[in-house]
Amino acid sequence: MRHIAIVGSGPAGYYTAEAALKQWGENVHIDVFDALPVPYGLIRTGVAPDHQSIKAVARRFEKTALNENVRFVGNVKVGENVNIATLQDLYHAVVLATGAPHDRQLDIPGRDLANIFGSAAFVGWYNGHPEFADLAPDLSGKNAVVIGMGNVALDVARILAKSRAEFAGSDIVEHALTALDTSSLSSITILGRRGPHQVMMTPKELGELMHLDRASPRVDSADLPDVSTDALLEPGVRKSVTHLRSFASIPENMRGKKPVEIDFDLFASPVAFHPAKGSSASVGEVEVEETRIEADRAVGTGKKYCVPADLVVTCIGYRTSPIPDIPFDERAGRFANNEGRILPGLYCVGWARRGPSGTIGTNRPDGYSIADLIEQDMANKVIDTSDKAGRNGFDTFAAQHNLELVRFSDWQKIDEAEIAAARDGAPREKFVDIAEMIAARKA
Ligand code: NAP
Repeated sequence: MRHIAIVGSGPAGYYTAEAALKQWGENVHIDVFDALPVPYGLIRTGVAPDHQSIKAVARRFEKTALNENVRFVGNVKVGENVNIATLQDLYHAVVLATGAPHDRQLDIPGRDLANIFGSAAFVGWYNGHPEFADLAPDLSGKNAVVIGMGNVALDVARILAKSRAEFAGSDIVEHALTALDTSSLSSITILGRRGPHQVMMTPKELGELMHLDRASPRVDSADLPDVSTDALLEPGVRKSVTHLRSFASIPENMRGKKPVEIDFDLFASPVAFHPAKGSSASVGEVEVEETRIEADRAVGTGKKYCVPADLVVTCIGYRTSPIPDIPFDERAGRFANNEGRILPGLYCVGWARRGPSGTIGTNRPDGYSIADLIEQDMANKVIDTSDKAGRNGFDTFAAQHNLELVRFSDWQKIDEAEIAAARDGAPREKFVDIAEMIAARKA
């Protein structure tokens, strides 16, 4: 029997479990660990609550989770409740699928002012991640600034702009819905340090901005490069640029009909945050420097101006959490690895392997390639294949250390309770408190 431990139950974790089942069939036992008592990682707490079709992939992961050779082992913090060396003693291979849960820091003056958040915290807040449920962003100002030109910036801007009615059918948590309902924001500026041709936002997601009830997008046509140069772009980027062009051509009188403007401020690199007038604690402005593109990079022109900002969300990428003694690539913010191998018997997949890029589906080939690599390492005796204690050994360890494990059958009870608590039309109302999650499995 092969014993495999996967740390992280998000897309990278479950695609790896699926691949391991394909690889070894009846001859493998897989334990999928998670720090939370609930599975699915980014599907639950990262994917936007109004993108339910993307979350449907959880049904595929459930199929894997219900296979009797796979176990969900929730409420276990690897590195705290159990260390990697112990897992390596118990399992033939340990795969880190821990994602990239920390924000890349925007290290500019004023970054500690209140009401500036990283996207991990802000997205976690509206998605009910227990760590960020109490974030309480102040939405009483008029101006929000969202920094970054990727899909996370787009998610944040869209969520800030939507009306309560537009959240029907979403699983946004009640505390966020209530706060957004009373929001006074009328201007959401998306700051991009480069230009339209360097946009990381994907066309489908950008297109959604044209169909918001309360908000309309705006691009300054002076920021658009000559249309003939679009031909050189990769087709996806070209489609995104076409959306930006259409935002630039919305007539002023049409735009004014909606109370919220989503303004793309491009070629604008943030250089400092300044406090609000009359406050020393809370953000009031973002100072930016105009840029031009040189060799695909943003280069400051020296010309600066300020953008009003009562709320700031930085969406500039993520970093993996380092684990003591595990090789880490500080610059890239992920585990140091060679095609997914960190050390013999220790692997990484998904964002923990390649950094925060790609779609949910990108994790599938990642998971399959790691299963192949583990098989190769077993065949080449890079991994010792002699008997290991596996899941029984872990259960003994957990009992000795009084760990309160949450199984998949427990999650099914938590799931039922969340579905039962859903407001009208919503798929669920998430628990945002770990103790409440654990209590729900016993109810
Ligand atoms: P991303 O696509 O890498 O975008 C990050 C943005 O931050 C870039 O525009 C980058 O600009 C900017 N940035 C970085 N450092 C900056 C700085 N110091 N100052 C100003 N701007 C800075 O990352 P993401 O939006 O976090 O998304 C992560 C991944 O998840 C992506 O692959 C994304 O497509 C995916 N995702 C997908 C969906 C969806 O499919 N619906 C939703 C959410 C996320 P430069 O390009 O100039 O570096």
